[in-house]
Amino acid sequence: MKTTIIVDKKNTTKTEKNTKPAKNAIKKVANTKATKPVIADKKYVANITALLKNFPQWYTDIVLKTELCDYGPVKGTMVIRPYGFALWENIKNALDKSLKAHEYQNAYFPMLIPSSFIEKEKEHVAGFAPELATVTHVGAEALPEKLYIRPTSETMIGNMLAKWLQSYKELPMKLNQWCNAVRWEKTTRPFLRTSEFLWHEAHAVFADAKSAKKNALDDLYLYENFMRNYLALPVLIGQKSEKEKFAGAEITYGVEAMMKDGKSLQVGTSHYLGQNFSKSFNIKFQDDQKLSRYAYTTSVGTSTRLIGAIVMTHGDDRGLVLPPRVAPIQVIIVPVAQHKPGVLNVAENIKRTLTNLHYRVAIDDSDNTPGWKFNQWEMKGVPVRIEVGPRDIENNECQISRRDTLTKTTIKLNQIERYVADLLENIQQTMLVTAMQNRDKHIKRVKTFPELKKAINAGNFVLAPWCNCTECEEAIKTETNGVSTRVMPFDSALEKNSVCVHCGKPAKVEIIFAKAY
Ligand SMILES: [Zn+2]
Repeated sequence: MKTTIIVDKKNTTKTEKNTKPAKNAIKKVANTKATKPVIADKKYVANITALLKNFPQWYTDIVLKTELCDYGPVKGTMVIRPYGFALWENIKNALDKSLKAHEYQNAYFPMLIPSSFIEKEKEHVAGFAPELATVTHVGAEALPEKLYIRPTSETMIGNMLAKWLQSYKELPMKLNQWCNAVRWEKTTRPFLRTSEFLWHEAHAVFADAKSAKKNALDDLYLYENFMRNYLALPVLIGQKSEKEKFAGAEITYGVEAMMKDGKSLQVGTSHYLGQNFSKSFNIKFQDDQKLSRYAYTTSVGTSTRLIGAIVMTHGDDRGLVLPPRVAPIQVIIVPVAQHKPGVLNVAENIKRTLTNLHYRVAIDDSDNTPGWKFNQWEMKGVPVRIEVGPRDIENNECQISRRDTLTKTTIKLNQIERYVADLLENIQQTMLVTAMQNRDKHIKRVKTFPELKKAINAGNFVLAPWCNCTECEEAIKTETNGVSTRVMPFDSALEKNSVCVHCGKPAKVEIIFAKAY
């Protein structure tokens, strides 16, 4: 037995030495064998409810115990703790860059919106009325006009655009703001649905319908790429049904992510608003013939809900699994027998080397046992853990574990830079592929209503032919205890002469049905 282990170690080291370019290195990382199982301190991990036993409780345990958030004192509100906020900042910074690359400029608009603004757009007020928080007094004095705390800013921004916009030469005008929004929801869950949430909302104005429609789609693809590339979320995109579209929009496109319990989480929407808000707010410009014309607008938004999506797409029984590109800490260094001479020095050197390469790195030199630390950082979803102790230093080595596959390998100290770079990239890609495989396994194509119910109860999404009628959609929701239409995928191929999965009338589209958060 002993001999075998030594031979294995030698082989691993040899393979490491022979690796040259980064491309090969990635392949090699994927092929690296797990040499030891990761030590689990069962007592500690037992604090998280098993994912398969009770998914909602598992989720709550994770978001609270990893200190992403806590409950606020007012029901339905949430405190985002430093670890959760660091994750949000990484998401925000990356998305902000993408938005700027699409020529959005950041600005900030007030959170207090005159009630008359929201009431100007009929569908908009009807859609938001039940969730509007209202300011009526300052001190003891009643305000002349009640004010709403922004649920979204189409009306506020519309009002300002009407004031600013003069000529077609200023178009397109693309504005984005990072802010909070308040929607007084009855049922709340941390990150998924909270009375107050953080988000970005981007609003754009165009001279013609065609450009505005194209922008709504461009923004949808921007989200799809961002969520795949940074959050490893293999999202589904497409148009929403009439019933599910945004209050005041002509077309709403949705971004849906599949959670590990088979439910869908809407993680973003992009709206083509036509001239609805232009006409309500008088957003006009002079065209090249000096004629005054109403503009066409779009809006797009995504929120701190993305954190919930990351938790429920990638997490496991040990806790969070964070995509390296947004993880607050990408590499955690755990010194073993840190009181022994040289151990902390080596740990510091590794940290310095990786920090210089702009990785987010931390050392856990607390007094907790190594086993406790391993579990702690696994629970927090840190993608890579490096352990280094006296024996490793003697051999010029360290132990590197990856969070996604829970495998561990031995690496020479002078190979850390390239190894970690390749490993983080590999973890990012592996997480996307794993989530994609899980998603594809759980999308079922059905033709009949009993099949639909059966597939959804078994934790799947369903792709089915549908009549595209609101009445039918509502009936499905009632008869299935909450199954809703999600999106009509652009690439779906509706078979000739197919009929609606529920009412049997001629099918007009293919749509995804699922239970949703
Ligand atoms: Zn139907």
